[in-house]
Amino acid sequence: MDDQLNLLIELQHVDKKIHALMAERGKLPGMLDVLARKREANAEELAGARAALEEAQKKKRDRDRDLESGVQKVDKLKTRTGDIKTNKEYQALLKEIETAEQDNKTVEDDILRLMETAEATAVKIKDAELRSAAESAAIDAEQKELEATVARLNKDLQALERERHDAAGRIDSAAMAEYEKLHRTRAGTAVVEAMNETCSGCFMRIPPQVYVNVKKNSALIPCPQCSRILFYKA
Ligand SMILES: [Zn+2]
Repeated sequence: MDDQLNLLIELQHVDKKIHALMAERGKLPGMLDVLARKREANAEELAGARAALEEAQKKKRDRDRDLESGVQKVDKLKTRTGDIKTNKEYQALLKEIETAEQDNKTVEDDILRLMETAEATAVKIKDAELRSAAESAAIDAEQKELEATVARLNKDLQALERERHDAAGRIDSAAMAEYEKLHRTRAGTAVVEAMNETCSGCFMRIPPQVYVNVKKNSALIPCPQCSRILFYKA
């Protein structure tokens, strides 16, 4: 086979490998982003649950204080019964005590409800922590694997770039220019096999007198239709 034709086939082979590896590498940043978002979502969920717990605990402390002063208020009202002179005053005081006790009951209900909320939230936090820890380990492992893949692809690409450089250095500048043009305009396929008198790039028939020459593999012969360089596999 013609040396230049052979080198062009080799170059295209390398270029296809480079293209495939770059496509593979191109997907990885998106996959790493997905992992980062998962990690963020877990952290946000946990932070949200912790904030809810703190909120419930703070509200409970406030209500504890309300109850304390409410109880003091009732005690104080009860000490006034000795000063009462009329039945009317006595009835009014009893009413006041009853109202204050009812208020305290409401506060107690609030405290119970807040304690239940805090307990439920604490359980939620525990669950979220366990899940987050388990997922975090899986995410770390996946991230490590992806980073190793990036490193491997970069190394392979460097080797292929060297291979490409070597092959390109042995190709005539005119042939190289033609290859680059076709590579760009013909979806990365500049050199194609001719078989059964057909170009496997554009699937058009190759005239018999051209095909005879293509079969010799002794020169760079373009497809009359798509201009791709033709070669023949015996
Ligand atoms: Zn063609």
